This record gives sequence, structure tokens and C-alpha cells, in this order.
Amino acid sequence: MTTMTTTTAQALAACNAPALRTELPGPIARAFIERDALSVSSCLGRVYPLVPKRASGLVIEDVDGNRFLDFNAGIAVNSTGHCHPAVVAAIAKQSNELLHYCSSDWYVPAYIELCERLVASAPHGMGPSKVFLGNSGTEVVEAAIKLARYTTKRPNIIAFHGAFHGRSLGALSLTASKAKYRGGFGAMMPGVYHAPYGDPGYIESVIFRHLSEPTDVAAIIVEPIQGEGGYVVPSQGWMAELRRICDTHGIVLIADEVQSGAGRTGRMWAIEHDNVAPDMLLAGKGIASGLPLAALLARDRFMTWGPGKHGSTFGGNPVACAAAIATLDVLEGSAIANAQSMGAHLQFQLQQLATVCPAITDIRGRGLMVGIDFETHEIAAAAEQAAFRRGLLVLTCGERSIRLAPPLIVSREQIAISVQILGAAICDATQGDCALDASDHRVAS
Ligand code: PLP
Repeated sequence: MTTMTTTTAQALAACNAPALRTELPGPIARAFIERDALSVSSCLGRVYPLVPKRASGLVIEDVDGNRFLDFNAGIAVNSTGHCHPAVVAAIAKQSNELLHYCSSDWYVPAYIELCERLVASAPHGMGPSKVFLGNSGTEVVEAAIKLARYTTKRPNIIAFHGAFHGRSLGALSLTASKAKYRGGFGAMMPGVYHAPYGDPGYIESVIFRHLSEPTDVAAIIVEPIQGEGGYVVPSQGWMAELRRICDTHGIVLIADEVQSGAGRTGRMWAIEHDNVAPDMLLAGKGIASGLPLAALLARDRFMTWGPGKHGSTFGGNPVACAAAIATLDVLEGSAIANAQSMGAHLQFQLQQLATVCPAITDIRGRGLMVGIDFETHEIAAAAEQAAFRRGLLVLTCGERSIRLAPPLIVSREQIAISVQILGAAICDATQGDCALDASDHRVAS
């Protein structure tokens, strides 16, 4: 641990974060939180009282001047880091030329260029494909449901326990991570069946046998690594098994890569780790570094719908497209490779931490999509809060996990700091039942 402390001290000096100058939340943050309660919808469930003002790279400064190290990237969105200069420049350039022209009705160059780039990035074996752009992950999930039903002329969809695909009524019908997301909203979309995530036999032995003939199934939608459900990596071979089932029965395989895609796992798309090509692929979150953009890629033979069957006023807005093109440049330039090497380094550091923190029961992931399991949900939640109070931003997921999804440009030094703080936060959360000294990590004042 001594080596880690020295490295961390040097790194703290280098990146100047975390650096907390007030209690949390500070006075200006508290004033915003009070105003928020008066006018902002009560459905937003805030994780901790962070009120960001500006950010750069992995560092977020709040309205009181406190600096945090960001290891959740706005839920896996700021893939290139906050305000990457190349992304900001692309946004500025496009903003000066054309802010909006509806791409559903006219030919907008940035839309066309981005679709070309996404087609070129498709997993090997997907073959010729075409792209529809939306504003959010949920929107492209909806588009995929419609397209799969339309192209197969079949009604049913299979999704998985623990899945998160969004909260509009179609997408919500597929989502099965937390019952509270569905509670109180009445009947879901009919024809949706859920299987246990990663279970090799269930679809054929239960769903096809008891619930739905395969010839009624339009699509299987799967996250190649489950996000909200707990950063769960399925066993090798399961994705190929889903591919086999789809091929056998003429079912569309949809990979929802909204969270796992855009280079986060050290490959452009997480499904590439399984050497499986989907029929449709959904991208969002990290694809445009923070501007609202999402994509539905579909093999040519499934992109069968005609003009007017789907569309969007803002989807594929030129400014968001310009941000996405610049993001792809950064990802393909070096960020994906960095995600691969830094992801391995992060997992190694966490394994070291686990040897002195018995509350950690599992560490898993690919690239910079890393989940840490704890003995209980309460410990995971308390560690998340304690990390915030120490200046590190992380987020829980699943039943009892913390997810680490930093920007893909994270450095070794930032990983050293984050692991050190996490160790101290776990000590806080477990009231010292940990071989680490929680005072080991001190935040600057
Ligand atoms: N699909 C997955 C796998 C997600 O993780 C999410 C959001 O977390 C969505 C879809 C919905 O995306 P959005 O919140 O952009 O609508």
C-alpha cells in the first residue's frame, strides 16, 4: 500500500483532483438543490448532491469550486472525457454553419457522414448495413422494436432479467432490472418474454416450449454486457448460442450496445469480444461525448421499411452528428486502445484492493466497463456515498455492485487515485472492517 500512496500523492499533484474546499454539498450547491425541489419533476432520483459547473478530462468542478474525479462519466457518456478539445471544436464549427435541419425530410451532410462512419465500424460479419439516428438510447430501442416487428411480420420479443433498455412504454416492456421502473404504469406492451440473462437453455426449453412458438418471435434483444443490471459479463459462448437460436428460427438478434459500446470495453462494440455479429446494433451514450445522439444499425436485408415508417424531428441533429464524428476520431485514434490497457490495469489494481477488503466479493468486466460486487447492497450504496464525500464519482448498479465507467482517456495515475479513494470509501462503508487505513487517503483542502 505504501507504493500506492506515493504514486497517488504524485498523481494528485499532477491532476489536482479531487480537491474539496467546502463541506458537501457546499452553500451554492445547497441553494440549487433547494430550487430544484420547487420546479424539477419528482421522478428524478438523484444519487448524491453533486452540482457540476464545468469539467475537463476526468475532472468535474462543482458550483462551489470542489473538484471531483469522475469515474462514471455521466453514466458512461463522456467517453472522450469532459469537453474534449476536438469534440468542442467540431461542435463549435458545426454550430456556426448549421444548427438544425430535419434529417428525416432532407439530406444533411453531417448525418450522412456519421452513418457512413458507423456502417464502417460495424462488427465483422454484420455485412452491409444502414443506420437510423435518434436522440437517445430509448428512442433507438423503440425504433428497433418497430423495425424487427415490421420486417419479420412477427409480434413477440425476448429480453432478459436484469435488462435495461429505457423507460418509454415499448422500451420499458423490455426493461427488467428493477420492478419499480414498471410499477404503477399499467399493462406493458404485449408479446414480451423475459429469460434469465446468461442461461443457455431457457429460451428453447421454457419460452419456445410453453409460451411462444419461435415463429412468433421477431427479435431477441440483449446487452452483450449487462449495464444497469450489474455490469454482468455472460459466459463465453452464450452470445453464439443466441446467434444460433436466431439463425435457426429466423429471429432478429439485436445487440443493445447503448452502454457497452463506443469503445468502452476495449473494442468498438462489446459483442466483438464474442465474435458474434448481430442483425441490429444500438448505440448511444458514449457515441457523441455528451450530445444527444443514438443509432440503430441494421443489416441491409432487415432495413426494409419505407419512407415515413419512422422518423424524428431532432434525431441526427447536425451538431450532435459533428460531435459523434469527432468522438469516433478520438476513439479510433487511441482511446479504445487506452480503454483496453487501462481497463486491464484497473481490474488488476482492484484485485489487489480486494485482498485487503473482504467486503468485495467479485470484480469483473471488460475494458473500462468494470463492476465490483459487495457482500450487501447496503455496503455498495454506502461506499458510493463515501466515495463522493472523498471526491470520487462512482455509481451503483445491479443488486450490490458499484460500476466503474470512467472516460476512455483515463490515465494510470487517475486509476491509482481512484482505487485508493475507493479503498478508503469501502473502509468508511464497512466501519473499518478492512485492512486499509481509511486515513491513508486525504483530500486536499
Ligand atoms: N439501453 C441501455 C443498455 C442502457 O443502458 C440505456 C440507458 O442507461 C438505454 C438503453 C436507454 O438510453 P437513454 O437513457 O439514452 O434513453
